Amino acid sequence: MNEQETIFHKIIRKEIQADILYEDELCLAFRDVNPVSPSHILIIPKKTIPSLKEIEAEDKELLGHMLLCCSEIAREQNIADEGYRVVINTGENGCQSVFQLHMHLLGGRKMTWPPG
Ligand code: 5GP
Repeated sequence: MNEQETIFHKIIRKEIQADILYEDELCLAFRDVNPVSPSHILIIPKKTIPSLKEIEAEDKELLGHMLLCCSEIAREQNIADEGYRVVINTGENGCQSVFQLHMHLLGGRKMTWPPG
């Protein structure tokens, strides 16, 4: 197995099931299997990028596109008016567990600050 291969690559290739809410040529959005808020959606690039640590200048447009997707999906899911949080866990201290870049879109409840 390619060492950069993750469970999210299998979801991109539809080899394992996920509740997909949005897909285009650049990214995919699906519900987190273990939600920590009433609405918990993951937005991932189709390009292999293990984490925010590995992004390059050429990924600028892709990252902007993913944020636009977050904003649009939040509106569609009716969590935008009350507000939401977008999180990118990165590396060990960031508590990242799947090493394909992903944005967590969290909404449907009041968040706390600082995060744990
Ligand atoms: P991280 O901890 O890396 O920031 O977030 C990884 C997220 O992926 C976790 O919230 C976890 O629940 C979610 N996750 C892990 N495996 C799967 C899976 O097979 N399907 C879905 N839909 N989510 C997953």
